[in-house]
Amino acid sequence: MYFRDVIGHEALGEQLRAAAQSNRVAHASLFDGPEGSGALGLARAYARYLHCEAPTPEDACGACSACRAHDQLQHPDLHWSFPFFKGEKSDTAVSQPFQGAWRTLLAERPYFGLEEWVEATGADRKQLFISVHEALEINRKLGLKAFKGGRKVLICWLPETMRVDTANKMLKLIEEPTDGTVMLFVSEHYDQLLATIRSRVQAVRVPRLDDATAAVAIERLTGLAEADAQELAGVVEGNLALALRLAGAGGAAPDHELFVEWMRACWGLKGADLVDQSDRFAKPGREAMKRFLQYALHMVRQCIVGNYGAFDAVRLTARERAFAEKFAPFIHHGNVLEMQQLIETAYRDIAGNVNGKLVFMDLSVKLHGLLKRPAA
Ligand SMILES: [Zn+2]
Repeated sequence: MYFRDVIGHEALGEQLRAAAQSNRVAHASLFDGPEGSGALGLARAYARYLHCEAPTPEDACGACSACRAHDQLQHPDLHWSFPFFKGEKSDTAVSQPFQGAWRTLLAERPYFGLEEWVEATGADRKQLFISVHEALEINRKLGLKAFKGGRKVLICWLPETMRVDTANKMLKLIEEPTDGTVMLFVSEHYDQLLATIRSRVQAVRVPRLDDATAAVAIERLTGLAEADAQELAGVVEGNLALALRLAGAGGAAPDHELFVEWMRACWGLKGADLVDQSDRFAKPGREAMKRFLQYALHMVRQCIVGNYGAFDAVRLTARERAFAEKFAPFIHHGNVLEMQQLIETAYRDIAGNVNGKLVFMDLSVKLHGLLKRPAA
């Protein structure tokens, strides 16, 4: 990952490179950005830049031995930490058994989130976290002499999954850094980190990507047609991890027609229509069902934005807007939260292997009740 591979965030990249070139590298930074914003990519590009033997003002050189080691994700002074689960046979919980899966995921996907990582590790429903033993292991690794004589860089993904005792161990590392150590924390939920950690790291705020930038990126990363990429960009709200997740479920744009027909059927509670639609919903498979529900959530949210007189601000394509303007009056503050919760629950049920048709029918009946509820 080079700076040129990071989509958007050009100014942040420039600041990081300037810090490196003038030798003002913070020994602990927190790259804080929502899922799919590119915070991890930025940290990776920075780590490479710090190791590169001949960096230019724009990027790492790509030719030195450090860059070649980074190409293989095998630089000996780049250490990775991430949430994982404790294997049944091991006594201590350390990330070592998962380092291979981690590198594979990094190599395969420029953008990913916890969902992809859970799948890659086979964690299923196990809770992922960064353990105390892992913090001790990081301490040990960072205490070693740098193999290549330069900086030792740690990239720690999702430090908010540390428990308090782990976070306290990490805090000690941040407060008493070993020589030549650079710690890059990459967080999606800054607010869940201990305040003592937040206050001791240099904050690098990574904003979510705007729709136009995300649309271009989606087109490039997925091969979707321009109009489909724009539609998907509106749905994922700048989250490229989600865009890849959804596009991977068939590559087509969200099914707007099905959504429109579904809402009509929910309103009228027409049994035959709902059965037909539940077949269409469930047939393409679990990933497509998740994508459709994500799309439904997006449409509901945009309707509420439109209701507050902000139809100019909604993130909809022309055909979506035409529908939303008619549909929005049925979504109001008296039912919108419950609608969102129901759709989110359905999403989790689908992800958890519950029968798709049953989830769809149950959700439809409940939505019918909410849509019929008058605005207070
Ligand atoms: Zn280089």
